[in-house]
Amino acid sequence: MFLGKKEDFLRMVLTGAIGICSFIGDQGLKHGKTAAARAIFDNVTHAIVGGLTWMVILNLSRKPLAQNFSSIFYSFCLSSFIDVDHFIVACSWKLSDATHLEKRPFFHCTTLPLTLWLMLNFYSSLFNHPKLSYYSWIILSSFLSHHIRDGTRRGLWFCPFGSTQPIPYYLYLSMSMMLPHVLQWLMISSLHESKSSDNATLIDMV
Ligand SMILES: [Zn+2]
Repeated sequence: MFLGKKEDFLRMVLTGAIGICSFIGDQGLKHGKTAAARAIFDNVTHAIVGGLTWMVILNLSRKPLAQNFSSIFYSFCLSSFIDVDHFIVACSWKLSDATHLEKRPFFHCTTLPLTLWLMLNFYSSLFNHPKLSYYSWIILSSFLSHHIRDGTRRGLWFCPFGSTQPIPYYLYLSMSMMLPHVLQWLMISSLHESKSSDNATLIDMV
């Protein structure tokens, strides 16, 4: 009973931390003195929010955070890594080139993680390889947390169909905090729907 309450409290703290870190990151982005400081602040915020999002998913799945440190670290790194596409498209490591692109770079297209997630889950069930499905959720959660945060400035981009309007600020904060709860619910629902004999393994990993 006490353990359950402790987990609930931790989940509340972690969910709140997503909102608080996003807000602080946005303030840093707005008031940072130099372009480099703003970019670093923004990128570190993406990483922390991505890590926290996966931590909430683990907590909801009743998995100890310390024993799942590697998956939290993957989410942290991937959420930050997404912005590398600015430099790839600019063909330059200069921040001024990377931040002045004419088009949004490819990792910022939300269709990409959704397609990847579908493909990995398809191959996971086809080859009975639950690890692929496990990684698909880490990828989806990292990308979506990043895209929702960027979405408050530029909307969500579903190439080749187009982009949504920028997400209103408080809706974006709410979506960021809701994201791990929705994903974990989807994850559990998909496991119950699936007929894979290795479901137990995946549930155990998640
Ligand atoms: Zn970005």
